[in-house]
Amino acid sequence: MSDKEIIMLYNYEWMLERLYSMLPPRLSSRAYDIPSIEIDYIGEHTYVRNFAQICERLRRDPRITMRYFLKELGKPGALDDRNNLIIYGAIKAQTIRELYNRFLETYVKCPTCGSYDTELHREGKVYYIRCLACGAVSYVKPI
Ligand SMILES: [Zn+2]
Repeated sequence: MSDKEIIMLYNYEWMLERLYSMLPPRLSSRAYDIPSIEIDYIGEHTYVRNFAQICERLRRDPRITMRYFLKELGKPGALDDRNNLIIYGAIKAQTIRELYNRFLETYVKCPTCGSYDTELHREGKVYYIRCLACGAVSYVKPI
């Protein structure tokens, strides 16, 4: 290959790469795309610092996600003005992480294709997740 050919090839690959990087990402997030939960303690309370960010990323209503955590923990709590979660009581970070992982497995991850790009819907008392990657509908336990 001449220097000119090498430069052209390089440019072609570079253009292809650029083209792919400009395409919208495929809706098929995997576990490693999902933010891990960040926990702080304020006095006797447990504060999930990135709760709003997680809910937005997972396309989940912060109030429903909060209900899941509080119900599982059997503790009262609230959302602050930025939609981050405050749990009244000092809860071990490990316990919250385990609950979060269970939430992801049960209420976010598509059982058909494994994508985390799903939506949670409710019809009356029935809850189901719809996958944005493969279109599968899966019924889940009400929150
Ligand atoms: Zn799917």
